[in-house]
Amino acid sequence: MPGYLTHIIFGHKIFPGNMKNVKMFNIGLMGPDIFYYDKSDPKYKIIADTLHEVDTTNLIKKLEIESREYALGYYLHNYLDKKIHPQITILERITGKSHTKLETLIDAALLKREWHTTVARLDKNFFPQRLPARFVRIFEEELYNNYGIEDARIKEVYGTFLKNFSLLYDFYYVKAILAYVLYFITFGRINYKDYYIFKTPSINILKDYGIDVLWKEAFNEVGPLVKEHF
Ligand SMILES: [Zn+2]
Repeated sequence: MPGYLTHIIFGHKIFPGNMKNVKMFNIGLMGPDIFYYDKSDPKYKIIADTLHEVDTTNLIKKLEIESREYALGYYLHNYLDKKIHPQITILERITGKSHTKLETLIDAALLKREWHTTVARLDKNFFPQRLPARFVRIFEEELYNNYGIEDARIKEVYGTFLKNFSLLYDFYYVKAILAYVLYFITFGRINYKDYYIFKTPSINILKDYGIDVLWKEAFNEVGPLVKEHF
């Protein structure tokens, strides 16, 4: 999958400004990935994997009634995953870098090219403090009705996602150093270093990695698709 920031940059390029509830749009852009961050129960990974595979047309339609912004974001997440994920898998093989490292590098290069900033300097106040109760209820109901997913506990999952997001990005350089220290003193057993970079990569990697071509294709394709679905 592409990283958090790649999804956000993509969404904001499709819908620049004029979004009424931009924070709901941003969390929509995280798609089902929020379930990956709750490790308290293996079922959340299964839920996330399932939601990446099934047809979510009906789910998105139902969520659109509650939050059009969220539904749009969610749709764009799924679209971009399908577009870019296979290329990242290929890159893993070619470069020998981990999936996470590649996501981190691509996030940073896109951020530099599209928003002229760095991961450490970026204002990351993207998401709502909590999700509207009614939205959570409808989301959980629809997960059950469409896919038989029970007890998704979206409120808790969302809380964990928010915690992880700040855990990853607050005091960026301090954590980056810590991640490397931990990696070396545990002989690689604790490995968070692929989430961090000290130096923003050249924007040329986007071309070298074949992301540029896909990124441009995505912009040509997605406009008509959004019109068709919303
Ligand atoms: Zn995803």
